[in-house]
Amino acid sequence: MATSPFDLTGRVSIVTGGNGGIGLGMARGLAEAGAAVAIVGRSTAKSDAAVADLKQRGAKAISVIADVTDKAAVAAMVERTKSEFGRVDILVNNAGINIRKPPHALAPEEWDSVIATNLTSAFLCSQAVYPAMKQAGGGKIINIGSMMSIFGAGFAPAYAASKGGIVQFTRSCAVAWAADNIQANAILPGWIDTDLTRRARAEIDGLHDKVLARTPAARWGEIDDFAGIAVFLSSAASDFVTGTAIPIDGGFSVMG
Ligand code: NDP
Repeated sequence: MATSPFDLTGRVSIVTGGNGGIGLGMARGLAEAGAAVAIVGRSTAKSDAAVADLKQRGAKAISVIADVTDKAAVAAMVERTKSEFGRVDILVNNAGINIRKPPHALAPEEWDSVIATNLTSAFLCSQAVYPAMKQAGGGKIINIGSMMSIFGAGFAPAYAASKGGIVQFTRSCAVAWAADNIQANAILPGWIDTDLTRRARAEIDGLHDKVLARTPAARWGEIDDFAGIAVFLSSAASDFVTGTAIPIDGGFSVMG
């Protein structure tokens, strides 16, 4: 029987922020397609629960406690994954935070913290996995942008800047590493029901209904909506796809 182009048996993935939300939805997809998964986060309890979830699906999974803004911790994250699973084929740069304040109210430290977590982390992690991917003869990098990679956000200037930057960083890696058979793509989630947006809904009056009205699919996204795109962008099925930024948004970004 021919092997499916979506099969990830024997592949090894790292998913930052994989212990909940969109990262866990992607990790579940990778696990069910056959990949081993290293779940990276700061919370031991959340990461242990995510590893148990993946193991229940029959996957190999480990928890790696690391702050992705810390270069030494990122290097240790890659070493731990290699020592457990022998290689790294797939990196999902998903860890992210938001601080909701308009530009005139945002402190420089708050700006730095959002940029470090959402953007610099993707640079540090991508740079750290590059030698292993090159040695393996190729690899897949998936970076998580946002609708704010496209649209401005008066209440989240650092977040929007970080997510715009993610798209350009993705394109740059795609160009730089094409000769190494490494494909880098971004996905741009619409409004997805997670801890991050539960906080936003509590803070922003009317957000829930505004999102429903503006989304052609007429619902908030679920974390399991990210399993398919994670498998596609991690598998041989996407070997000629690189440098893209794909909205996963129920049509939010094309609504007139
Ligand atoms: P969650 O808050 O549910 O998840 C964020 C994850 O990032 C957590 O697993 C958290 O783990 C991890 N994380 C945060 N900071 C760090 C750090 N310094 N080091 C390591 N891990 C860290 O959010 P979502 O699932 O909603 O968001 C995931 C990604 O998707 C983010 O990049 C977000 O910007 C993006 N996104 C989300 C949208 C949505 O509607 N939900 C829309 C568009 C984009 P821990 O707490 O253990 O550190």
